[in-house]
Amino acid sequence: MAPDPDCIFCKIVQGEIPSTTLYTDDRVIAFEDISPSAPVHLVVIPVDHVTFLTGLDESSEALIGHMTLVAANLAVEQGINDSGYRLVINQGTDAGQMVDHLHMHLLGGRPLGGLAT
Ligand code: AMP
Ligand code: ZN
Repeated sequence: MAPDPDCIFCKIVQGEIPSTTLYTDDRVIAFEDISPSAPVHLVVIPVDHVTFLTGLDESSEALIGHMTLVAANLAVEQGINDSGYRLVINQGTDAGQMVDHLHMHLLGGRPLGGLAT
């Protein structure tokens, strides 16, 4: 999907606003969350402006798998593979989704507590 000029994550992809990017390839980028909820808090996003899980079809299976693999590799790089970590996709209002550009949070570096608070 084409970049959305009003989307903050599209602006990060296009280098229009700064980010601390730790990984990039032709399909995804990963950067530090600006307001971290844990000692390690990265966000993995598609390069393309994909909004929600809703509406994804089978052609997106590889993308979601790639996002997960990139996150798992970053967890190793960040030194939290052995201590453990959490991958989160917030979808919609009740989950607190603030940015309507699909993203996967990688959280770790401390005990993370309950799943849904
Ligand atoms: P969500 O609530 O799942 O939509 O999460 C959006 C995340 O994006 C939040 O954790 C924000 O702190 C993060 N965020 C928003 N703007 C930026 C930015 N410019 N750079 C890095 N992370 C951001
Ligand atoms: Zn976007």
